[in-house]
Amino acid sequence: MTAYSLDDSSVFVVIGSGAGGGVLSRELASRGHKVVCLEAGPRLTLGDIVNDETEMFNKLTWLDPRMATGKPDPKFPVWGCKTVGGTTMHWTGACPRFEPHEMRARSTYGDMPDTTLVDWPVSPEDMAPWYDKAEMRMGVTGTHGNPHLPPGNNYKVLEAGARKCGYTDMDTHNMAINSVARDGRPHCRQLGFCTSGCALGAKWSTLYTEIPAAEETGNFELRPGCMVTALKVGEDGRIASVTYLHEGQSVTQKARAVSIAGNVVETTRLLLNNRSERHPNGLANSSGLVGRNYMRHFTIQVMGVMPGKVHFYRQTHLAGVVRDERAHRPERGFAGGFLISTVPFTPEVLAKNMLVGGWGRDLTRVLDKYEYLAGMLLTGEDPPQYSNAITLHPEARDANGLPVPVIHYEDHPNTIAMKEYAWKAGRRIYEAMGAEEIVEMGDYIPATHNMGTARMGDDPRASVCTPYGRTHDVANLFVSDGSLFPTAGGCNPTLTIVALAMRQAEHIDGELRAGRL
Ligand SMILES: Cc1cc2nc3c(=O)[nH]c(=O)nc-3n(C[C@H](O)[C@H](O)[C@H](O)COP(=O)(O)OP(=O)(O)OC[C@H]3O[C@@H](n4cnc5c(N)ncnc54)[C@H](O)[C@@H]3O)c2cc1C
Ligand code: SF4
Repeated sequence: MTAYSLDDSSVFVVIGSGAGGGVLSRELASRGHKVVCLEAGPRLTLGDIVNDETEMFNKLTWLDPRMATGKPDPKFPVWGCKTVGGTTMHWTGACPRFEPHEMRARSTYGDMPDTTLVDWPVSPEDMAPWYDKAEMRMGVTGTHGNPHLPPGNNYKVLEAGARKCGYTDMDTHNMAINSVARDGRPHCRQLGFCTSGCALGAKWSTLYTEIPAAEETGNFELRPGCMVTALKVGEDGRIASVTYLHEGQSVTQKARAVSIAGNVVETTRLLLNNRSERHPNGLANSSGLVGRNYMRHFTIQVMGVMPGKVHFYRQTHLAGVVRDERAHRPERGFAGGFLISTVPFTPEVLAKNMLVGGWGRDLTRVLDKYEYLAGMLLTGEDPPQYSNAITLHPEARDANGLPVPVIHYEDHPNTIAMKEYAWKAGRRIYEAMGAEEIVEMGDYIPATHNMGTARMGDDPRASVCTPYGRTHDVANLFVSDGSLFPTAGGCNPTLTIVALAMRQAEHIDGELRAGRL
């Protein structure tokens, strides 16, 4: 097994082993560069994954304290993982691309009050080949010859209802879940425990794809259980070393260059918490934008009690999608759009969250019909607002002595209008299928899609990172997660995180070879 010395200042250090960090690590290692990946969580095996949501939540989820003001749950505002593989363990595998209008949001939507809408500094045409590479790597169904997953009942109800409502663009989604055996991993058995981690390994996770592939190159060392706390800037203004906690000890690794892929909240915390004379407002924060423009898609639901049994839990979670409402059609009363996907819930989750405030017969009437339920998730674009921000609490500290992140988030009026429209659209679909009862569920899920707090752009005064994710202020410091997104689009973000990490790796490779890094 490859092991690098703490004094080896030629290693590239990647912080985080999830979608961004896992992919970047493999890409750099396979191009011959020495990579050390520092991961706060433990390394599990497929044998550690059991079909039990509660047990796996406790095993995988990032549970260090976080606070929130505004709309999110004040104690659990964000849902991500602390484990090798990051949130690609919990995720459900949906892999849509950004639409061109979403990457040109400012030009398309115009001047939306109280937002910081911009166009991406990377064009849809630039992204296209990287999307191709990411889809091929992840084995995304419905792309590059990978067959779609078969339709389950929940999707069949959604599709039939959607067609009755005049929608036409739908299928079983583009999923990073094997529909046929591929890449040494089996096909999905439709067991429906995707958010527990996939015990079969049919769902793409960096735990058993990118990380072992990086190890096979002989240029990669994974260090699990290593929580990075500090990045030290040398006399030359570059990051010289990274300090982390491992089994209670503080350890320092020298570095040639560093990338942070901690899934937005932790990336922001690391940048803001590393203040110095040279960086009084935090690392790479001369623009004052680190932590600002935090975005999270809304995820609201509609549930229908159908006339026949659906068994909506017997398939992948996001088992199909209707795309017709994703387009930008301002006549609906809002800019941007949303996706309509299937979703199931366990009885426990329904009881806790479905009828918030519901009690007694209101709750049991629906729960008694569990097998008859169909469910959909409505996920929509969230415009960037300067006031939605991640900051650090001035006093509260976690068990590692680090300041607790505080997430402030409020819906923009555009989001509120889109949600109202989306609930009605969802209700119409189940009404068309003769639902006996329809329940609209609120935006209670903690943010699963986090974006925007170190946005990329060409202007160092208006962005934190360059279009390749290198920070404007520190020449050898990169960001490789959703923090880079200038706008959020109306779709799940991970395919774009992976495509950007692959694109970034090629850029870093060129810079390293040219001696510029
Ligand atoms: C239930 C659920 C379902 C989802 N479904 C989808 C979906 O269908 N499609 C989609 O596109 N997206 C989905 N997502 C979102 C997706 O999981 C994330 O977009 C993606 O994993 C983000 O990748 P990342 O590399 O930024 O972060 P992560 O994958 O979360 O990886 C970050 C890693 O960094 C580590 N880390 C953080 N800070 C430190 C530190 N200081 N030191 C060391 N290590 C650190 C963490 O432990 C973690 O392992 C879902 C998320 C959830 C929770
Ligand atoms: S439904 Fe498929 S992807 Fe989800 S946990 Fe089961 S086998 Fe894995």
